[in-house]
Amino acid sequence: MTKKQLVDELTSQGVLKNRAVKKAFIVIDRADFVLPQYLEAAYFNRPLPIGFGQTISQPYTVAFMLDLLDVKKGDNVLEIGAGSGWQTALLAYLVGRQGRVIALERIPELVELTKSNLAQYPICYRTSTLIHGDGSLGYPSGAPYGKIIAAASAQAIPEQWKEQLKIGGRIVAPVKDSIVVIDKISRDQYQQTEHWGFVFVPLIKG
Ligand code: SAH
Repeated sequence: MTKKQLVDELTSQGVLKNRAVKKAFIVIDRADFVLPQYLEAAYFNRPLPIGFGQTISQPYTVAFMLDLLDVKKGDNVLEIGAGSGWQTALLAYLVGRQGRVIALERIPELVELTKSNLAQYPICYRTSTLIHGDGSLGYPSGAPYGKIIAAASAQAIPEQWKEQLKIGGRIVAPVKDSIVVIDKISRDQYQQTEHWGFVFVPLIKG
């Protein structure tokens, strides 16, 4: 399977609709983020182990979530669960030079993995800040965020994430086996939609 075949497959599945996301999938090479022993599987439409019981996400899920997130150039994005850094790099590419990505990861070795993977993409590296810590409480010092995205599944969307979101901003995050989209309409009003049928690693608190 080649990168082009993966992009074509995701396009025909209807999840690579957004032009910017499609371009990001081409520029940011998943092969640069998988462990060396999985290099041949880099363009398979599946999650792959990255150690510590974690995985680099399935391309289908990442494309689906990034399409929903609707990242604009200049956005200030919070990512919870950097893992391999693949989605961090995609986000950094999408926000562009004027944007900012703060990525939280609770496993220190994966923070290091993300840092070394991102170093292959100097522009992404400059735009993103990697933080070792628990993202279940968000990251107040970088708030407010235009967009918040999580790669690990919570039992419910933490209130802190909603508080740290800008009015007009959007959260795309897994809750149990669904992907939930939350739009902040006003200081205390939110609109929610839900997409069923996904599988995620759990969000671990603390
Ligand atoms: N999009 C990433 C997916 C990584 S899997 C990729 O494609 O590589 C989800 C990640 O969330 C794991 O690395 C896990 O360690 C992390 N995680 C789980 N709970 C967390 C928490 N409370 N705070 C920060 N990271 C968390």
